[in-house]
Amino acid sequence: MTTHLDETHRLDLVSWVESAQAADTDFPIQNLPLGCFRTSGEAARPGVAIGTAILDLGAVGRASLLSAELVALVTQCGAERSLNPLLAAGDAVLLELRRQVSLLLRADSSEGTRARSRRGELLVPRAESELLVPARIGDYTDFYASIHHATNVGSMFRPDNALLPNYKYVPIGYHGRASSIVASGGTVRRPQGQTRDDPSAPPAFGPTRRLDYELEVGAFVGRGNALGSAIPLGEAEGHIAGLCLVNDWSARDIQAWEYQPLGPFLAKNFATTVSPWIVSLAALAPFRVPALVREAGDPAPLPYLSDAANERTGGIAITLEVSLSSTRMRSEGHPPMRVSLGTFGTMYWTMAQLVTHHASNGCNLQPGDLIASGTVSGAAPESRGCLLERTWRGTEPLQLSTGETRRFLEDGDEVIMRGWCEREGFRRIGFGECRGVVAPAR
Ligand code: MN
Repeated sequence: MTTHLDETHRLDLVSWVESAQAADTDFPIQNLPLGCFRTSGEAARPGVAIGTAILDLGAVGRASLLSAELVALVTQCGAERSLNPLLAAGDAVLLELRRQVSLLLRADSSEGTRARSRRGELLVPRAESELLVPARIGDYTDFYASIHHATNVGSMFRPDNALLPNYKYVPIGYHGRASSIVASGGTVRRPQGQTRDDPSAPPAFGPTRRLDYELEVGAFVGRGNALGSAIPLGEAEGHIAGLCLVNDWSARDIQAWEYQPLGPFLAKNFATTVSPWIVSLAALAPFRVPALVREAGDPAPLPYLSDAANERTGGIAITLEVSLSSTRMRSEGHPPMRVSLGTFGTMYWTMAQLVTHHASNGCNLQPGDLIASGTVSGAAPESRGCLLERTWRGTEPLQLSTGETRRFLEDGDEVIMRGWCEREGFRRIGFGECRGVVAPAR
C-alpha cells in the first residue's frame, strides 16, 4: 500500500509559487500532479500543476534541474506528447520525480532558489494553457464497484433481482472504448441510437432522450504486467501511477435496450471525459482509510482479493462533487448548482482489488491504461453519482435555480465534477475539474 509519508507531505512546506499558498487551491506543493498541456503554437508537453501555474517539465529538463534519468524521461514524454514514458518507468521513478519537483518548488531550498531565478521560463499560467488527456490510453476498463450504485440501478432495471448473486464475489466490469476518451472542457455530442420505450412497439433510432453523466474515479496504470502474469494484491498499487476524475457519459435509453446479454456498448462508448491531472498515490497517502467493512453475512473476498493491508488502508477518502449548469443558468448569471456530494471511501472494492482482479487471468495491463471505478454512489440520495439514480429514473426531477427541472441532461447543460481530500494536520489537495458541455445531436 502506498501509505508512506515523507518530507513532501509536510503541512508547513511553502512554495515560491505564491498562488500555491492559497487555502482553497487544489494544487499546493504537497500535491504535484502530472499532466500534459499545450500553449498556442507549441507542442504538447508534460507539466506539474502548482497553484494557478504549470511547471513545464520540458523547460525544467532543458535547464538541467532534474537528475539525468528524469531529464531523459521528460524529454521522451515531450517527443511522444504524452506521459506514457514516465508512467512506464514505474512507481519508484515517479516518487523520485515527486521528491525532486518538491525541492524545486520549495521556497527554502537551494534547488528552489535556482528554479525561482528562472521562473519566467519554467512556469506557464494555467489559464493560458490547453490541458490534454494526459496519457496515450491504450485500453479503458470501467468497473461497477459501488454497491449502492449497483443496487439502485439494479432495482430500476430488474426490480425483482437488484443485486446479482455474483456482485459480492467478483468485481464487475466491462471493456470500454479508449478512442472516445476526451479532455475536460470540451463538448460531448448527444449520441443517436436504438431505443425501445414501448415494449409493444418496435425500437426506434434517434437522439438519446436519457443522457446522463456518471461520476467516477479513474486510475492510470503505471508499470504494466506481462501477458500471462498476474498482479498480487500486495503489489497492485505499485502498478497505479495515480488517479483522476472520470465522467462516463451514458445514454440510459440506449443502454436499457442493448445491455443484455453482453453489457454496455453504444450507450457508453460515444464519449468519456477525464480530468487533466494525474494525482499520484504518493500525494494521496495522507488520505488513506480502511476498505469498506462488509456487512455481517456478506462473503469475504476470495483469497486473491484479500489481505490485511488492503483491509487496513485500501480505501481513499476523496470527497466528490457534481455540479450542473444549464444554458439559461449561465445566461442569467446563476452559478452552477451542486447536484451530488459523496465520497470515494464507500466503494465495495478498492482500486487495488480492481487492478488485481483485472490481471488475475493473465490479462496484461499497460502503461497509460485507464481503469475507472464505476459510478460512485453512497447510501444517501445526495451522494448518488448519476442522474438516473439522483432523479430515480426521472420520477423525482431536480429543480434548478432558474426553476427549470432536470430528469436527464438537456442540450447546453454543463457537468462539472470536482474531487478533493482533506485531513487535519495535512494540506488539502484536489483533482481540478472534469467538465463537459452537451452539444445537440447531429
Ligand atoms: Mn460507468
